[in-house]
Amino acid sequence: VLPRDIFAPRQNSAGVAFGERKALASFLAERDAAGPLDVTARCFWSGAKADAPQVIRSAVDGTAIGSVHALGAEAASALVGEAARHVRTAEAVPAATRAGWLRKAADLMEAREGLLMNLLAREAGKTVDDGIAEIREAVDFLRFYAAEAERLFAAPTFLPGPTGEENVLQYRSRGVAVCISPWNFPLAIFTGQVAAALAAGNVVIAKPAEQTPLIAAIAVGLLHEAGFPATSLYLAPGDGKAGAALVAHKATAAVAFTGSTETAFAINRALAARDAPIAPLIAETGGINAMIVDATALPEQVADDVVMSAFRSTGQRCSALRLLFVQEEVADAMVEMIAGAAAELTVGDPRDIATDMGPVIDAAQHTMLSEHLDRMGREQRIRFAGTLPEGLPAAGQWFAPHIVELDRAEALPGEVFGPILHVVRWKAGGLEAVCDAIERTGFGLTLGIHSRIDDVARLVRERLTVGNVYINRNMIGAIVGSQPFGGSGLSGTGPKAGGPNYVARFTREQVVSVNT
Ligand code: NAD
Repeated sequence: VLPRDIFAPRQNSAGVAFGERKALASFLAERDAAGPLDVTARCFWSGAKADAPQVIRSAVDGTAIGSVHALGAEAASALVGEAARHVRTAEAVPAATRAGWLRKAADLMEAREGLLMNLLAREAGKTVDDGIAEIREAVDFLRFYAAEAERLFAAPTFLPGPTGEENVLQYRSRGVAVCISPWNFPLAIFTGQVAAALAAGNVVIAKPAEQTPLIAAIAVGLLHEAGFPATSLYLAPGDGKAGAALVAHKATAAVAFTGSTETAFAINRALAARDAPIAPLIAETGGINAMIVDATALPEQVADDVVMSAFRSTGQRCSALRLLFVQEEVADAMVEMIAGAAAELTVGDPRDIATDMGPVIDAAQHTMLSEHLDRMGREQRIRFAGTLPEGLPAAGQWFAPHIVELDRAEALPGEVFGPILHVVRWKAGGLEAVCDAIERTGFGLTLGIHSRIDDVARLVRERLTVGNVYINRNMIGAIVGSQPFGGSGLSGTGPKAGGPNYVARFTREQVVSVNT
């Protein structure tokens, strides 16, 4: 029997009290004082032969906010060789010291909230709400994995055995851990992967997404400032080719990846093709996340939760709602109410406190969304098209919220990463068919259920093997330590980030049996 709280005592980050006008005003002033920005992202290893620096421009207005010295494939490969030289030194650092450094980094991150908020808005288009939530999550990961380092490494576990023999299980680091992250949570996911790999005593190479290297550079700088030596944590800015070179290197002993399912497949294949020791892969990927709403659900609550789940962060969350199944009897009224709530959303400069949705990350995403919408307009029925206010900076990739009604779930071709919600009707007695349709997507990340009938929620959640199920609430914003996050099937491998099994995946278990 597990104790009720299996984790060491912890406290999640408090964030900012929005209700207090004064606190908010001084918070925003501090944020704005942190600009204009000129951040450099480079590998801190002097031996790294980086490409010529490239300017990074704001996702909001196109102004220069820093530069990146990206690594090509060859330089990334050389970096793994360099990192491998320091594996023993990193492992020799006691877990309590590593935990102390992680906690110090959390404090530093909270202290630099203004700079981070500024950068999250300008490099990644994050709204004030989203920025605050993202910093909180990164801080929570640092503190949570610090406690996990202590829990796993503090003392060996004694196992039962015959008299005269002592059996001990202990955790050891793996060696070089490569962490590859996406642009949509450039601070929280980046920091979470890195913090867990460091907690386990590895030498870590952190490759941020090519769209967001600057926030990553600040995070790595804070971890170094907190105590982690430069030889235990390397920033590896670069594109997918650099990522592929890091994975392919023989000395890479573990890979944590968050991003698209396609890239996870590529990494899995690359690891399998290596003539090297078998390395574990943690893959956290996408989803065609569904919510099922039946006729007993509370309409106002559904509208609020759907709008939040589908459109917050401009729909650029892996957990976001993509496919809404509404029972026929209430479908028209429900869609109308959701459209009414979506029409209230303000698209605009994410630094403005009144903005609900910032830009999408880049022109490629905008093109993908526009093409998808064109196709839906030809083949299906657009139920709601939001409008963009006038005067938005031309350089931002603005995209209004949309709702599309599909004649069947299969009309959705795949994960559409942005603010487009798809709705499908279902008839009473058709719950099994809805579950079949969700299962056929092959994904299993998040699932929402809105119903006042307990048996409906029970049937659905027992039937589907989705990683995170949300009942009568929105389905985003998993909290570290309370809602460990991650899916199965095409959505990933687990173990869940922010959960009790995550750090252990970055370790090797060793059992020592002594004849006493
Ligand atoms: P992506 O797969 O294009 O890129 C992610 C990272 O992988 C980037 O750092 C990229 O440079 C790197 N990369 C690309 N090709 C590579 C290769 N061959 N080898 C090694 N690394 C390579 O994903 P994206 O567009 O940046 O992110 C969006 C996707 O991420 C969506 O599908 C979303 O659902 C998913 N996501 C999942 C989670 C989760 O926790 N499950 C969280 C956030 C985002």
